[in-house]
Amino acid sequence: MTIDHPNRSMTTSPTAILTMLLCLVLIVFTLVQWQASRWSELVWLAAFVAMVAIRTPYAHRNRANTIVVARNDLVERFLLVAMFLTMMVLPLVHLATGIFGFADYELPDWATGIGAVLQLPFLWLFWRSHADLGRNWSPGLEIRQDHGLVTSGVYARMRHPMYGAIWLSALAQPLLIHNWIAGALVIPAFAAMWFVRTPHEEAMLRASFGDAYDAYARRTGRLFPRIAQ
Ligand code: SAH
Repeated sequence: MTIDHPNRSMTTSPTAILTMLLCLVLIVFTLVQWQASRWSELVWLAAFVAMVAIRTPYAHRNRANTIVVARNDLVERFLLVAMFLTMMVLPLVHLATGIFGFADYELPDWATGIGAVLQLPFLWLFWRSHADLGRNWSPGLEIRQDHGLVTSGVYARMRHPMYGAIWLSALAQPLLIHNWIAGALVIPAFAAMWFVRTPHEEAMLRASFGDAYDAYARRTGRLFPRIAQ
């Protein structure tokens, strides 16, 4: 599908404002009764706030982009909603209210510790991939006017560093939040997103950049950095 949004609105939508307010209320609720949380849940919360802080300036700036190709079909939208629920809404609601306590499980301390350590490479890669993609980043599958193929920085050896970062976060979430609903559900949600979206994204970039994308794909790994060039 090819669409054009020359006059894309620069004002923040009421839904986005409402979501931000709701997140804020849930975070405040969690913080005022922080003794009720495990230390690892507060680590998850701190990383969540850092993730939002990294993304927000790019999301705000890129709303001025003119979109020339968008592949945001029904399946893609469903997967985005599933990610939004499992990565944000369910954990925040659980941390604020303990509502899913019936689905808790136990983990050894070393496993929880791995979850905490994973936050460092996650946030670093999340930050660098936003910085390297810059104006070419979008939450959905889109090509903007003057879209450039980024092949440098963290994109030099792997094609999906941002999804790599989200994999780290998704794998760490159930190690930090010991709950099948608020912690573990994000793994099947992101696995579905990865397996459905990545081929569509690569096909869209191949259609836009042709041989340049083929050459780039040959010298890079999809999720893991290709070391030998
Ligand atoms: N899959 C990438 C980017 C995710 S953001 C990653 O995991 O790092 C999704 C948007 O990034 C898509 O709409 C696509 O247009 C854009 N994109 C992905 N790879 C790109 C690249 N190498 N250069 C420019 N834009 C890219």
